[in-house]
Amino acid sequence: MGLVLVFDMDQTIIDTSSLKEMNDQNFADEIKKSLNVDLIDKVLRPAAEQRKNRNVDAIVMLTNNSDKIFAAWVSKVLADVLESRSKYEPMYMNQELNVFYTNSKPRKSLESFFDFIMWRDHSSRPDIEDTPKTMQDVKYMIEKLLLPIANLEKRTYFFDDRADHLIRGELDKLGLGDHYIIIESNLPELGPGFSKGHADITDYTPIIKALSNKRGGSRKIRKVCKKTRKLRAIRKQ
Ligand SMILES: [Mg+2]
Repeated sequence: MGLVLVFDMDQTIIDTSSLKEMNDQNFADEIKKSLNVDLIDKVLRPAAEQRKNRNVDAIVMLTNNSDKIFAAWVSKVLADVLESRSKYEPMYMNQELNVFYTNSKPRKSLESFFDFIMWRDHSSRPDIEDTPKTMQDVKYMIEKLLLPIANLEKRTYFFDDRADHLIRGELDKLGLGDHYIIIESNLPELGPGFSKGHADITDYTPIIKALSNKRGGSRKIRKVCKKTRKLRAIRKQ
């Protein structure tokens, strides 16, 4: 079973506050300029690489932004930047979004980097102010993707600029506090969160280690298999 990476959107993946007015023509370019490049290079790129061989089961977005179109565009731009797209796209696009509309013109489904996008007013989330983010949300997405949910907390890494989501306590309780990664930039006066033009100084060690363990693990398994094949061959002789 592979890892599950869960990302907040605003001030984690993208500095939404720095975006200029956008129109149909410059949408993708404006998003690209405000992305958290450190997060992309240190986490998203290696995770996308390992999604191909199932060391990473899913990369999903859990956002309290309710702008579905914007979230889908961020996902589309990341698919372009990372040259990696979800193979589950039709499932959540068809069920949850159907067709995107921009300037009231129907737009075809966009390619998506994320395997699932859960926005604030998603049908599975409670309709209350300051919508909580919980392991239940992660479980919902993983089940919709028809992936295994065994040991889900152990496999989950969560990234957000907020330190107080319920999921933190849920992971803490199981001794998995380091699976909750708070995005920090070198702007202490502003508090946590990614800000365009300022280095992301988040300690990504836990996820970097988890991704490299997975890589090592699969190499080891392949070696054992080779040995077993050799032994079988010898026994046959
Ligand atoms: Mg945020």
